Amino acid sequence: MSSIEIVEGDITKLDVDAIVNAANNSLLGGGGVDGAIHSVAGPELLEDCRNLNGCETGEAKITDGYNLPAKYIIHTVGPVWKGGNNKEDELLAECYKNCFRLTEEYGIKTIAFPAISTGVYRFPVDGATQIAVQETKKYLKEHPNLEKVIFVCFNDEVYSSYKNYL
Ligand code: ADP
Repeated sequence: MSSIEIVEGDITKLDVDAIVNAANNSLLGGGGVDGAIHSVAGPELLEDCRNLNGCETGEAKITDGYNLPAKYIIHTVGPVWKGGNNKEDELLAECYKNCFRLTEEYGIKTIAFPAISTGVYRFPVDGATQIAVQETKKYLKEHPNLEKVIFVCFNDEVYSSYKNYL
């Protein structure tokens, strides 16, 4: 049986097979969770990311975790919220789908997600949570070999939103 967990805190501290980075299209580092991940993983991560040629919104690319406890980092680019009529929901769902696709490809059994797009990209928290939970449940139903999905909540709004939807 797969499990879904909610934890409060910093995603860089988690000892899981993969953590997800809410990156930007360049994949060359930014603020928020991206900045935190690069600063803990170390400069080799940036070197690796330079060879990936960026990432389209909704897609995902994988690197080593370097100095993180996590073995891999899955970099995905969430949509910037522009009012809701610019395929924001679909693109956010694509992020989760593409991250899950990589778990299968790399034999990842445990994965932790931040609340993609809900920071600088301003996606409304409840809407983003609903998409994250829906895509996760859908995937786990068909792929019970993924053992654990952790939603990492960095602030109280995100935490209570996940509590509410799960
Ligand atoms: P985006 O550009 O996709 O909005 P952000 O990094 O600005 O990405 O924010 C995404 C979410 O990640 C926000 O909910 C933010 O509070 C959270 N966050 C920021 N730092 C961390 C961290 N170290 N661990 C987990 N979540 C984090």
